[in-house]
Amino acid sequence: MSNCKRCNRPLKTTQSIERGYGPTCKKKHDEAEAEFLKRQITIDEYAEYEAKAVGR
Ligand SMILES: [Zn+2]
Repeated sequence: MSNCKRCNRPLKTTQSIERGYGPTCKKKHDEAEAEFLKRQITIDEYAEYEAKAVGR
């Protein structure tokens, strides 16, 4: 029996077990990850901008 990596509740479906998250936690995890990636891109773009500004 597998448990959710986020809330540690037992996973009922094969799909959830494969994911390692229950449906709700998978959604929240994806949202958090998407937000994280969005910030990462923003920081990278900012770093690129800074590099250009410095290297003129
Ligand atoms: Zn969960």
